[in-house]
Amino acid sequence: MKLDTQTLAFMLSLAFFIQFIALFVQYKIGNRTYNGIGWWLLGSSLMALGVIFMPMINVKSLEILARIANPLMVLGQIFLYIGIIRFFDKKENLWMLSSIYIIFSLFYYYYMYFSNSISSRSIVINVALAAISFLSARKLFSEKDSLIATSANFIATVFLIYGVFLTTRFFWTISIPPAQTYLEHASILNAGFIVSTVASTLWTFGFILMNNQRLNIENRLEKEKMQLVFNTSPDAALITRLSDGLFVDVNVGFTVLSGYTRDEVLGSSTININVWHNTEDRKLFLAELNDQGICENKEFIFHRKDGNQFFGMISARIILIQSIPHIVSVVRDITERKQAEEALMESEEQYRSILNASPDNITITDLDGRILMISPAAKKMFGYEPNFDKFIGMRLLDFIVPEDIERAQSNLLLMYQGDPRRPNEYRGVRKDKSIFNIEVNSGFVRNANGQPIKMVFIIRDITERKLAEQHIQELVQQLEIEKNTAQLNSITDSLTGLVNRRFFDMALNTEFYRLKRFGATLSLIMLDVDHFKKFNDSYGHLAGDDCLIRIGTTLKTIVGRATDIVARFGGEEFAVILPVTERLGAETLAERIRKGVEDLSIPHSASDTAEYVTVSLGVVSVNTISLFSPKQVVAMADEALYSSKKQGRNRITFANDKTTFVNSL
Ligand code: GH3
Ligand code: MG
Ligand code: MG
Repeated sequence: MKLDTQTLAFMLSLAFFIQFIALFVQYKIGNRTYNGIGWWLLGSSLMALGVIFMPMINVKSLEILARIANPLMVLGQIFLYIGIIRFFDKKENLWMLSSIYIIFSLFYYYYMYFSNSISSRSIVINVALAAISFLSARKLFSEKDSLIATSANFIATVFLIYGVFLTTRFFWTISIPPAQTYLEHASILNAGFIVSTVASTLWTFGFILMNNQRLNIENRLEKEKMQLVFNTSPDAALITRLSDGLFVDVNVGFTVLSGYTRDEVLGSSTININVWHNTEDRKLFLAELNDQGICENKEFIFHRKDGNQFFGMISARIILIQSIPHIVSVVRDITERKQAEEALMESEEQYRSILNASPDNITITDLDGRILMISPAAKKMFGYEPNFDKFIGMRLLDFIVPEDIERAQSNLLLMYQGDPRRPNEYRGVRKDKSIFNIEVNSGFVRNANGQPIKMVFIIRDITERKLAEQHIQELVQQLEIEKNTAQLNSITDSLTGLVNRRFFDMALNTEFYRLKRFGATLSLIMLDVDHFKKFNDSYGHLAGDDCLIRIGTTLKTIVGRATDIVARFGGEEFAVILPVTERLGAETLAERIRKGVEDLSIPHSASDTAEYVTVSLGVVSVNTISLFSPKQVVAMADEALYSSKKQGRNRITFANDKTTFVNSL
């Protein structure tokens, strides 16, 4: 057989193509793909293309393809190298690889277009390929871990030998005279094709080997890990055959939970060893598994060996073991949780019955205020029938007037913050929309950790109390009024409406000491009706009273200043206190009084003084500093009054100098 260059090139490209398919199958079929295989696939394709393009040099129109054939080969080789690096989960030095490729291309095309030299091009290609082969060999020797050492060493050796071959070819090419045509170097070319075919087939074989070695090892580790989890899981784990329930494997957790030993169950089936409390449950479980291939967190009751029951939560899935469907199940004992749940339900049931029996208006809500339970008494209070049950889900806030809602919410917030202000009063709304007063006490229901989970409200209808409070309020107001009236009465003279002697004494006392502080003058006018006894005797006591009333009114009219005080001193005697008033002012006023009474022209036929009722007056004006007590002032005025009587009545006497005058001002 004659192996010409073209046949060899064809065979090499065929070899690359087969390698490409082999890598492709590896890439696609494996259930797991490592980094790098894609690069090898790409590298092999480029190299195959390169070899296919080489013979195109003889076809004029496709010559250009031949010109990129060798650069494609080199690029393919670089991709293989990247694939190796990536397979070891490392990152390639892109700068270095790019530099190698660029330098190679520059030289290669220089010797093609500027200084056409087949030998020089051949040298450049050899150097580039040899360099990448050595790099690949070095990487494989240094990076490989012990688990894939055999295959990695094998590929490294292939690259090493290939590199040595290329190096040899490089020295051989430079040692002979430059070739003018490809034919001159046919033997070198042919040797290159043969070695490349063998080397690439070997390294592709090596790649596949290395990949599978790693897959196997990792699968084994995975399996060991699974086995470890299976064996050490605190939950019961078991593997049974789908068709007949035959036990294939159980872990320690299973033996602890079920009470069976491993030997007791292995070889036996789930039907013989009845772990299901209810055979229907088993059918249900299997139906779901068959249907969906998986069953998650289903709760069933199981049997222990001793016949005791327990609640188990089972999760299972169907797996293939040697192509036969099996069930892997994990069962967790949830008896305690179930018991806790039942206890909770029981306690809920308990307080529901307490609630129903309670005469109090109790409402239990969730933390959003939605009603969970409500006592019949509370239903009745809000105007609902005892069997009305549509409260559930309604909010307690719906039962108070809208204006009170904001306040209620802020009170709840205070309760959350641990500062409960209780009880709170709101206006409740009955079913018929009537409004009534309620008082609300509230608190939290807490879980075992002290976290609030619900709220309890005890609501009282305080309509009666509110009414009573209102009544009391009214009574208090009434008493207040009466007290004020009594107070007023105690200082008022009932006949004349003037202030009485009691008030006069108090007022004089107050004014005396007040004025004494800053040395002001205090004046006092005392007056007495003349011959009043006779008036009574002549006209009767009622007429006498009437006379006194008219004199009182006259006095009030004449004495105008707000600070002046007109009092009935006693019997038919009156007094006028004039704070901060000098003699002249007091005398003027006294005269106006005297005149005023005279002008009333109340007939008094029995009088020795005039035909009409008259009064006698005593006036005093003192600097309060000079006196010790208000009594002295009264005594002085009284004395002056006495003087007026003595000197003929219907006149005024000024106390200090005993000046008596009538109409003298
Ligand atoms: P004099 O001019 O000296 O003052 O003579 P008088 O009669 O006014 O004095 P006296 O003190 O002797 O009499 C006062 C009388 O005033 C005696 C009493 O009956 C009468 N009187 C006192 N208070 C009242 C009253 O409230 N109503 C009536 N109608 N008379 C009263
Ligand atoms: Mg008198
Ligand atoms: Mg008198």
